[in-house]
Amino acid sequence: MPTTCNAKQFDRICVEEAYAPPELLEACRRALEQNDPMELGFRRLTGGYFNGSAGSNLLLRRLSDLGDFRLSEMDAHGIRKQLLSITSPGVQHLPASEAVALAQLTNDRMAEAVRQHRDRFDALAACAPQAPDAAARELERAIGQLGFKGALINSHTRGEYLDEPKFAPILEVLNQWRVPLYLHPNTPSPQMIQPYLPHALETATWGFAAETSLHALRLIMAGVFDRYPHLVIVLGHAGEGLPLCLERIDDRHAFFVSVDDRGLVPRLSRAPSEYIHEHFRFTTSGQNFTRPVMFLLQALGSDNVMYAADYPYESMATRQTIDALPLADSDKRKLLAENAQRIFKLE
Ligand code: CA
Repeated sequence: MPTTCNAKQFDRICVEEAYAPPELLEACRRALEQNDPMELGFRRLTGGYFNGSAGSNLLLRRLSDLGDFRLSEMDAHGIRKQLLSITSPGVQHLPASEAVALAQLTNDRMAEAVRQHRDRFDALAACAPQAPDAAARELERAIGQLGFKGALINSHTRGEYLDEPKFAPILEVLNQWRVPLYLHPNTPSPQMIQPYLPHALETATWGFAAETSLHALRLIMAGVFDRYPHLVIVLGHAGEGLPLCLERIDDRHAFFVSVDDRGLVPRLSRAPSEYIHEHFRFTTSGQNFTRPVMFLLQALGSDNVMYAADYPYESMATRQTIDALPLADSDKRKLLAENAQRIFKLE
């Protein structure tokens, strides 16, 4: 008898599951030929996708399918629902007009999949941050008309960060709708990628976490949450390292404020970790191992952590690990589905 039959019948929703329409993959393939020096990270991340190997072809098939193939893989691992989102770096490396059109197309395709399989998919909106006003309009459309549950942005856009004033229209829409922004990794920005390259550390091994945790801290230090009190940020990969550092960040921020006579260190109305506790939620994507999940639950609380697989880059075959966690069934239900339903307002 297959071991899966012994698994408990928890409802399982995973919330960081990537999609790319064939048109976006084709735009990526063309962009790789441009050799844009600003997009070294994109080239390092995506360069292997189109080498024709069996592994790459399977990845492309998984990324671009929203039908029976993806559903059969979900069924094989007991996943009832995926919260879909655009893959990294999405459209953020493309020229603005092309990026705006492809974000709309991606959202239309995800919306169609949700309509066809309402019990199996929900979606987070893609947008093109390099055109902030168009991005805000697209988020309005996706959330207001298509029923999307939030947005996903792949960290920096050509070296620019969401705390910069030009991106205010995007944060404004999310704050008004009170839906989460999934701040998903990207490779380090052009300003910071060089030391990662000699040993290929720029993607999921380390660069993703360094880049995305930096971005999250920039939002806090820039006072974004004082300006947008309803803004909620979701971090994957067990919080990209931040949960381990909450006390140290508070302690050192307070110290540097106390000795700063040049006005370099931001004065915040609360300790940095208070913003994290109030405005951040976390997922287990790529970190479905016992120690990181248990630490995350201890540091952030059982109401603030959601299960995610990170399909198709990571396996959905995490059921044995998650089911074996030393947790009450009530906490497993929160982790596997109930927190996602509450935080993303899923039906
Ligand atoms: Ca991911």
